[in-house]
Amino acid sequence: MSVSLTLKNISRRYVKDNEEFMAVNNINLEVNPGEFLTFLGPSGCGKTTTLRMIAGFETPTSGQILMDGVDITNVPANERGLGFVFQNYALFPHMKIFDNVAYGLKIRGETGEAAAKKVRDALAMVGLTKAERRYPNQLSGGEQQRVALARVLVLRPKLLLMDEPLSNLDAKLRLHMRTEIRRIQKELGITCLYVTHDQKEALTMSDRIMVMNRGHIDQLGTPMKLYEDPATPFVADFIGQANLIRGRLDHIDGDGWGYFAINDTILKARMGQQNPPAVGEEALLVVRPENLHIGETDNAIRMRIVNRLFEGDRIDYHVMIDNSSQEKPFSMSVPFLPGTEIVDTDTVVNVAFHPQAGVIIKG
Ligand code: ATP
Repeated sequence: MSVSLTLKNISRRYVKDNEEFMAVNNINLEVNPGEFLTFLGPSGCGKTTTLRMIAGFETPTSGQILMDGVDITNVPANERGLGFVFQNYALFPHMKIFDNVAYGLKIRGETGEAAAKKVRDALAMVGLTKAERRYPNQLSGGEQQRVALARVLVLRPKLLLMDEPLSNLDAKLRLHMRTEIRRIQKELGITCLYVTHDQKEALTMSDRIMVMNRGHIDQLGTPMKLYEDPATPFVADFIGQANLIRGRLDHIDGDGWGYFAINDTILKARMGQQNPPAVGEEALLVVRPENLHIGETDNAIRMRIVNRLFEGDRIDYHVMIDNSSQEKPFSMSVPFLPGTEIVDTDTVVNVAFHPQAGVIIKG
């Protein structure tokens, strides 16, 4: 029952402050049956607009939406057979949980024992079998959100669309619900599109992530691919924490390693696969804070420690390339283990990384 979804050159133009702008700009996407795909990006990048066009709440200015190869661009929302879970899950306060979940079936004309079984199955799936006689205000926020999910799942939608469904929950519950939603989605094998601006949520839950930036796709790939091989500085910075070090691609050796020049220092790193710079070009070296090490001399650069933050399990050093006019310090995260040597601020040290842990991308 899983479906595929295709977006072909989808755009949406709006008028804001008397000016036209493209909230969504020529998106092409293939979602596989049973896939959990997340739209990730900062506020205003067009995630919700894209999801609303798929749902049928918004009409594309141009382009086509296909489900299992059938064009649904002009099919009304209520005939698309989709389930939508919002951030504001507004249950009916005067109805018991059972009736809240049964509501959609009732509208469809499904009542009686068969319908009741569907409701109980949906409540069991979200772990709320015992709550069926309670009212929404007798449940916690997380439980209410699970009822909202059951209310959608009971209708067996072909495609599940979720827009920031966890953002009203407290941090601990959010972590728990990530796992729950993923478990249920896998159990049902349902294709799911999920919108979030939380990169951790996207990394932990998704099969693939579509990173959006100002209405277009910056990169589409598995969480690990995005983390290891960011296509743009935006993706490198948005997914996890990254140091973006400015320099020049000096040369590439016969094995494909890049040699990156920062003033007089040459550092060896992987060449980005998505968007590699040309030899001689200004470029960026992306190295994550946890991959920078103090004191080793191989593949190292001299840096001055300008600040030190003790975080318990780790020490976060802020470092600047020595004798540079760098605007913002880089970050180096060192595990704090028994015997770890603490380095004072204002010390100049060798900061090294393994060539595999650095990636050179277009600046
Ligand atoms: P958020 O995480 O804040 O919801 P988003 O990535 O989901 O952001 P969208 O809601 O898709 O972003 O909005 C994209 C852009 O389109 C924003 O600049 C927004 O102000 C604008 N926009 C959205 N809906 C309309 C509308 N109906 N009329 C005019 N502009 C709109």
